Amino acid sequence: MNVAVTGVAGFIGSHTAEALVARGHRVLGIDAFDDFLYAAKIKRSHARGLAARLPAKAFRLAEVDICDGPAIARELATEGIEVVCHLAALAGVRPSIEDPKRYIRTNLDGTGAVLEACRNTGIDRVVFASSSSVYGARGAGQDLTRVAAFREDDPCLRPASPYAATKRAGELLCSTYVDLFGLGISALRYFTVYGPRQRPDMAIHKFARAIRDGRPVVLFGDGSSRRDYTFIDDIVAGTVAAIERVTPARFEIYNLGGTHTTSLAELVGALEAGLGKRAIREHRPDQPGDVPLTFAAIDRAREDLAYEPKIQLADGIDAFVRWLSQDGDDR
Ligand code: NAD
Repeated sequence: MNVAVTGVAGFIGSHTAEALVARGHRVLGIDAFDDFLYAAKIKRSHARGLAARLPAKAFRLAEVDICDGPAIARELATEGIEVVCHLAALAGVRPSIEDPKRYIRTNLDGTGAVLEACRNTGIDRVVFASSSSVYGARGAGQDLTRVAAFREDDPCLRPASPYAATKRAGELLCSTYVDLFGLGISALRYFTVYGPRQRPDMAIHKFARAIRDGRPVVLFGDGSSRRDYTFIDDIVAGTVAAIERVTPARFEIYNLGGTHTTSLAELVGALEAGLGKRAIREHRPDQPGDVPLTFAAIDRAREDLAYEPKIQLADGIDAFVRWLSQDGDDR
């Protein structure tokens, strides 16, 4: 198939493009090399890596802002694109509280422009990157080891940050395009993704660098908050399956998670073990927008996408630490 991947120079996008090409698909990668969340030069180096590793007939990069609808439509039409995997967004909870407008522009206007470009060019299959953050602050005040895993049909009415709200709004916009215009859209709720090329603003990456360099690890809250960490290879397998199976005129939501939760304190312990070095812990109060828990029920993805997360946290951290010591986006 001819697949467009928006956000191709990012963490998940660069891995997804490689996996698609490995499976015989052709990829049009779209990215604007945004400089807000982390340095554009890191994304440019990901794009250079893709161009170097992938055959030219299987991969082309277009530097386009997703908010520029006509430019996106032009690119999609020239390449005869059949499916769009829309990953481009501003990620990150805390920066979205600092600058909500920027998130609304990229994540909402941008998603609207991508959906319009699909409609106008007759593309009827889209995979949209959503997020576990749409579930909001579930589990607050409870024993987090006993809260049930989150299901796609659970109500998601109180996103705890502008970022989460834009992702939930994006899902709703997608469902409207399915009902009105016959597009087929699968929204993937990713649960804290980690692995080589992970964004430097994310906890595992930040903490690993701090421990390695002997700097304090800043922990928000008392260390009891829990996350369902998902290794990048598992996320990519689920994403590629969604791209290959998305069906016109159907709207689906899938959780893609690891199905185990790890407390913040346990995560630091796992990183200490992986790096072979003790962390200096510095505790700060909980941050606005942070949620106590994420925890994926994946029955639906298992059933429809044959999704089965394989990588345990300790193995995934080893892979991340190996990447950090060899390469680590320090170019
Ligand atoms: P990332 O920041 O590494 O990648 C996003 C890419 O989008 C970047 O390369 C950026 O340059 C590009 N981009 C931003 N604005 C753009 C614009 N206006 N036009 C074109 N390109 C633009 O993030 P990631 O971690 O790879 O996340 C990918 C997607 O998955 C995002 O939609 C994110 O919200 C979602 N997600 C990620 C996680 C995670 O744990 N990493 C969890 C849940 C959801």
